[in-house]
Amino acid sequence: MNYKDLADAVFPNAKPIEYYEEKYPERDLPEGAIVTRFAPSPTGFVHIGGLMQCVIVRQITRQTNGVFILRIEDTDQKREIEDGVNQIVNAIHDFGIEFDEGMLNETDEKGNYGPYKQSERAEIYQAYAKYLIEQGKAYPCFATQEELEEMRQKQEAAKIRPGYYGVWAKYRNLPVDEAIEKIKNGEHYIVRFKSMGNEEKKIRHHDVIKGNIDFPENDQDIVIIKADGLPTYHFAHAVDDHLMRVTHVIRSDEWVSSIPLHLELFRVLGFKTPKYCHYAPILKDDDGKKRKISKRKDPEAAVSYYHEEGIPAQAVCEYLMNIGNSNFELWRKANPNADISEFKFEINKMSVSGAVFDIVKLLDVSKNVISKYSKERLYDEVYDWAKRYDAELTDLLERDKEYALKVLGIERENVKPRKDISKWSDVKHAIIYMFDDKFFNDKIEYDYGKITDKAESEKIVKLYVEKYFDISDDKQTWFNKIKDLAEEVGYAREVKDYKANPEKWPGHVGDISTVIRVKLTGRQNTPDMYEIMQVLGKDSVIKRLNK
Ligand code: GLU
Repeated sequence: MNYKDLADAVFPNAKPIEYYEEKYPERDLPEGAIVTRFAPSPTGFVHIGGLMQCVIVRQITRQTNGVFILRIEDTDQKREIEDGVNQIVNAIHDFGIEFDEGMLNETDEKGNYGPYKQSERAEIYQAYAKYLIEQGKAYPCFATQEELEEMRQKQEAAKIRPGYYGVWAKYRNLPVDEAIEKIKNGEHYIVRFKSMGNEEKKIRHHDVIKGNIDFPENDQDIVIIKADGLPTYHFAHAVDDHLMRVTHVIRSDEWVSSIPLHLELFRVLGFKTPKYCHYAPILKDDDGKKRKISKRKDPEAAVSYYHEEGIPAQAVCEYLMNIGNSNFELWRKANPNADISEFKFEINKMSVSGAVFDIVKLLDVSKNVISKYSKERLYDEVYDWAKRYDAELTDLLERDKEYALKVLGIERENVKPRKDISKWSDVKHAIIYMFDDKFFNDKIEYDYGKITDKAESEKIVKLYVEKYFDISDDKQTWFNKIKDLAEEVGYAREVKDYKANPEKWPGHVGDISTVIRVKLTGRQNTPDMYEIMQVLGKDSVIKRLNK
């Protein structure tokens, strides 16, 4: 009896690996094309770090004419949730990101290198595990839970390195006949890798982001196929990334310590190793201390948060690009209107220690992104958001679309667009006073700023309506009339004159416009008052000023 017999006893029906090597040939892509994947478990939750990976990967795969794959890693079926794949696909889709290959929903997929869900690939892993057993590089392990526990306790008591390796690997050298006998008797087993590594020896590995790292060799006989017939992460990683012809493994640096094992697996399986790019976690400044953004503590760890708050996808993507490559900010300054896809992302320039996520900065990016939107685009995105999260806003946008577009168009598509909106959840507050029913129902505390005397402010407004207001004035005439009004009531016509001689007047033209603005909108800070009046129209302006 030899290894071949053992392999047949373990996996009687597995195909030879040549079958898969042919079925998934090398890809025919241009020189330098990057093939990579996003490989989440279907827990439904997408972490902001995962989204950053997607943003980066979309960029570099597009720029190199490569391939972006979505692979679902569902070999740990205990952690799965119902609808988990859909939730991931939708969460990523909300940010405008599409994959070239992989899962489209729970069951459908596209691409020639599938299945893209690991639970559908059991026979593939088994074929490669069988291949290893045939060569004496993997073996069935019959250790029971009790045996493993006993081993663990002994190692702990003797203070030696834990794990299943070397002399501790009890079934590693079990004679083939005995192993086959046990299988025939129906004993339970799993399949382990037979490591040839030596912990005392060092290997040097080059990571695209982290540079050279030295590790001790792996010597653990890790499990490759579990009792349920599915692979462990490590084995699936090697087989899938090889067969999907992945060139770059971009993943979070929690996997760095597994590199020696992964390198050994690739070598023993006869696979070419991909380039590894381990990116640092996104950090959070927690009262001066930096720590990883945590799923448990921070709502902003989940990408659904940004969607719910209505931070536009484009802003989130830009900000994540910025976190990924810090020179993005300079590029953006130099190219304020360029599409983000024109930025040349460089993986090797990613931060080794991790960038701090700053929500204030994100909102600042967002404010700028939104300021460049046309009113139509703004309308569409806000409306989509409102339909999911805000019924009152939906109504404002729906009841008269033309009017809503005019409101959203105030101080937009000009050289100095308004920047008071950084997320869709700001929009209602920013526009609600433009709707008469809302305005007249609102209990407004009129605060006219400098002019606190009620009789004075009433006089100003009254005079304005009666003598100066004319909806058909152009902007210059309109403003000159406010100056005339200022002069008539004894205020400085020009702010600069007032500033030179403040004792000469009780105030200046700006104080007069504040009174009109507050009466008109209930607020001291609004976008351009002329535009507001034009959008409101004559009747509404007069009604508000006479209120
Ligand atoms: N399923 C693994 C994870 O979510 C994937 C890691 C990898 O990209 O290889 O962490």
